Amino acid sequence: MRFLYDMCYTHVAVTVSIVHDLPPEELRFHWKSGRLCLNFVATVGERWRRSFERLLTPDDLARWLVESGMLVAPPEVSPRQLTAARTLREAINRLARPGIQPEPGDRDQLNCWAARPALAPQLTSDGVLEWVAERPVDAMLATIARDAVDLLTGPLAGRIRECGAPDCALLFVDTSRPGRRRWCSTEACGNRARTKAYRERRKEPA
Ligand SMILES: [Zn+2]
Repeated sequence: MRFLYDMCYTHVAVTVSIVHDLPPEELRFHWKSGRLCLNFVATVGERWRRSFERLLTPDDLARWLVESGMLVAPPEVSPRQLTAARTLREAINRLARPGIQPEPGDRDQLNCWAARPALAPQLTSDGVLEWVAERPVDAMLATIARDAVDLLTGPLAGRIRECGAPDCALLFVDTSRPGRRRWCSTEACGNRARTKAYRERRKEPA
């Protein structure tokens, strides 16, 4: 298995554009996917159009790791770890997105992170759960990779959907019983799609 470890940091070119001077609301992280690994995939904005990077600096990744609720304090992230995180993220995107062909090496990239030590649960003196690791950033990437393996091989693998709104490409897990959920969120994309359909119906001649 050792050869796998070296692969985790093999640089793979990531084709996500860096768009400068984006308004802060575009750089906000999304947590609508219902899974850690898919929320991580959503750190690229507008995958249906210009695919822009939200993890612009190592600090952005540190912030994501805290906002995800797994780490309490922002860890020190190196530029190398940021590159590795983006590479892992794009591999997960291609492996999980319906209708997309993964690239050679995507599965190896995922597997090598999944084979690394993940965050460990700890019981604090207040009786609260805390996640710890000697190398929190690597462990967090391992945790994300394991979540992806678990999702892709579990009962919900066939329930990974891309949002049906034409201007949204967020991935989410449809846990509804009938399995016919179309939008990443009913409030945002669902409402927008319904309003648009309603307007279009009204435009049609009587
Ligand atoms: Zn959506």
